[in-house]
Amino acid sequence: MGDPVRHSLSPLLHNAAFAGMRLDWASVAFPVPAGEVGPALAGMRALGIEGLSVTMPHKQAALAGVDRTSETASTLGAVNTIVRQTGDLVGENTDGAGFLDAVRAAGCDPVGWRCLVLGAGGAARAIVLALAGAGAAEVVVVNRTPARAEQAAALAGSVGRVGSADEVDGADLVVHATPLGMLGGPAERRSQTPGQGLAPDHLPLDPARLGPGQLVVDLVYHPRDTPLIRVARDRGAMAQDGIAMLVHQAAHALALWTGQKPPVAAMMAAADGAPRRRA
Ligand code: NAP
Repeated sequence: MGDPVRHSLSPLLHNAAFAGMRLDWASVAFPVPAGEVGPALAGMRALGIEGLSVTMPHKQAALAGVDRTSETASTLGAVNTIVRQTGDLVGENTDGAGFLDAVRAAGCDPVGWRCLVLGAGGAARAIVLALAGAGAAEVVVVNRTPARAEQAAALAGSVGRVGSADEVDGADLVVHATPLGMLGGPAERRSQTPGQGLAPDHLPLDPARLGPGQLVVDLVYHPRDTPLIRVARDRGAMAQDGIAMLVHQAAHALALWTGQKPPVAAMMAAADGAPRRRA
């Protein structure tokens, strides 16, 4: 459930997984207006719906509407997955675990890595927490609004701090977690704040600071070849678009709902074959 949600890729991924798991289940998008999360969850209980994937703008409201939450969801203050467990609705957040799986699927392990996260919203917060938990040596948060950067960096405890995009060249891993470069996203040139190190041309950083030996992950997946992905590859860095995280966070949700291991390769194939849609 979300708003807007009609063009979400999630039902496509879920239904590809159900087919691969030979489950007679179906996933559909429920457009739920702001303020209607309580009635939506009452409907979930009454209708016997096994699971919900929660997207913007409902991740905080879902936290308040469930019976219990995982430690990760309560630390983040946001729920992206709801599971029925013995009649209770349990709120989970699979974004961080999905991100780590996506990075590991690229053959990388963030243990001991210096990481720079651009953005401090819901996705960035989940990633900051996950990277610290996975043994990153440092997690630097760069954000337009400094107070939100402080809050996100605090999630990484002693390895977290606020920094600037000028520090990109010292990072092993660069994560872009803002909508810059997203089709239909913010008008980049107009809304960037001078002094925060955010460069123009749809880029959240100075591409000259990227190079070989770095992994650059752009969470944006519409389009998949974002300006950042293109310059990262041109500069010799490894680059991963947002589909891998989307698939892996969905796989975590599916495992919680079904108790089975989801077919990640079939989900990736479904995403690769998807018409270009918006999240
Ligand atoms: P969010 O909670 O709304 O946070 C947005 C972040 O982007 C904030 O840090 C915000 O800064 C920053 N931002 C927004 N517009 C900006 C601009 N014009 N210039 C500079 N910074 C700007 O959003 P979210 O849920 O974290 O999502 C962030 C991005 O990740 C979106 O593109 C979303 O589609 C993508 N995403 C992908 C996945 C995946 O699985 N691939 C999962 C979740 C999200 P302020 O704090 O200053 O407002």
